[in-house]
Amino acid sequence: MRLITTIAFLFMMAINAYAQEEEVVENYDSWNKLALNISYVCWAIGLLIALGYFVRLSSVKGGKDKYDFINKHEISSLWIAVIVLITGGCFFANATITHLTPVLIGVRIFVTAAMGLIVAVIVQNLLKFYYPFYIEKRLKVLRYMPRISPKTGKPMKLLSEEEEDAYLDEGMQAEENVFSVDYDVWKDEETGFIQIEKYAGHLHALQCPECNYQTFKVTKEEIIKQPTELESGEIVKHYQCGYCGYKAKKSVILKQQSKIEQSAATA
Ligand SMILES: [Zn+2]
Repeated sequence: MRLITTIAFLFMMAINAYAQEEEVVENYDSWNKLALNISYVCWAIGLLIALGYFVRLSSVKGGKDKYDFINKHEISSLWIAVIVLITGGCFFANATITHLTPVLIGVRIFVTAAMGLIVAVIVQNLLKFYYPFYIEKRLKVLRYMPRISPKTGKPMKLLSEEEEDAYLDEGMQAEENVFSVDYDVWKDEETGFIQIEKYAGHLHALQCPECNYQTFKVTKEEIIKQPTELESGEIVKHYQCGYCGYKAKKSVILKQQSKIEQSAATA
């Protein structure tokens, strides 16, 4: 990045010595006005995209649906908004032109594009490596927020890993073991009403033990040994960090289960 600015600066210096050319046009008022208006429009659109996302999010009902909505749309919506805002900034930076030559036009385009790219790369990194911490915190709150029973209107109870097995069929249990999937089971203790929510773990990054960013993801799952009715099986999960590239393997023992092949096939 520093290289780009240095090159741009040297380029400008060389051009300044050279730029004894004639002006392209005498008056830049109409361009300046146009550029200013385009920048205002871009900023308005960018803000509307970001605002629109949060309005849509607030209209999503229920912890689980909100959770999925944030996971799916938040970073991409903010990223699009930022690109539009930066485009507006590029026009704004060129809305006070008083003097221009053909060479200076090239310089302006080059410098504007370079600056725009630098800002975009910085924001992209923030969204990719820092923002997930903030998202993760909010997702955790949404996931464990007490669910309200539609039968009684009272909060339900989140069952523990052991308790929930009674309500998950074998396909679901195999999925929980083999794939990076998690089921949460909420129970209304008064009426026995059950609500099951599925969370896809592999979409979800963990904190990297090496660089501590929230960028540690399952990349591959290998079944070393299928569990049978008599013996337990084994699966190896491969993790890789999207930031520093740190890799790790984790071996998970699969409980012996009847009909595991069938359930693994349907999962
Ligand atoms: Zn890392």
